[in-house]
Amino acid sequence: MVDTIYCEKCDDFVEYKQKSKEETYTIKNEKINIDAKVAYCKECGKEIFHEELDKKNQRKVFDIYRERHNLLSPEEIKETRIKYGLNQKEMSQLLGWGEITYHRYENGAVPDSAHNNQLLLIQDPKNIKYLLKKGNTKLDQNKENELLDKINKLLDSKNKLELHLPKTFYNELKRKASNNDMELDDYASFLITQKYYNRENMNLKNYKNTIKRQFLWKLQEQETKNNWLEDLKEGQKNIANLSSNGKKNIINY
Ligand SMILES: [Zn+2]
Repeated sequence: MVDTIYCEKCDDFVEYKQKSKEETYTIKNEKINIDAKVAYCKECGKEIFHEELDKKNQRKVFDIYRERHNLLSPEEIKETRIKYGLNQKEMSQLLGWGEITYHRYENGAVPDSAHNNQLLLIQDPKNIKYLLKKGNTKLDQNKENELLDKINKLLDSKNKLELHLPKTFYNELKRKASNNDMELDDYASFLITQKYYNRENMNLKNYKNTIKRQFLWKLQEQETKNNWLEDLKEGQKNIANLSSNGKKNIINY
């Protein structure tokens, strides 16, 4: 069956072709240019609305906006919740938000900066512990105890990356670091410094902000967050120290 969509000008369902086109979107008063994919009517040549392509373009815009402002991605937000063994309702009770608000962020809405900061803070289990002790969560007592248990287990583990990354991805990184004869932290900082996340590895792409944040904390460079690349001397040092064999392996990541 031929894929057709509705063209207003032709007033009919028509075949279409896809083309790239530079488009400017505005999010919160900020202009963002993307290389958008749009559909054109094969009959009259007019640009026509294509729901799937439109969704992909919007996603692209949101990704750029998030990256610029160091905002959490829906994947990171969800992973944090899963790490603590909470459902969406419990997560909003913990944060003191409406359930819909939290739900929207997991489904792709861009968090405002106050909410983003809260989400950032609770990525660190120590902050949840503090919140449970001092704060006013709406979680019921049983759930609070369960959560505290889980957090104490997480805090027993030493490595920051292990705390913040999903287990399978963490294990994969660890294995590759050891294949390359490198410490995990050095390997991860090397990968993000070199933008290997732009290659086919989706997991790395999804978690690069999480990894970035760990090094920001480690280096206590919160204030230079947006210029992290220039300031991340660690990763660059490691490149210089790599054996040529190590380099080859990493390029094949
Ligand atoms: Zn047409």
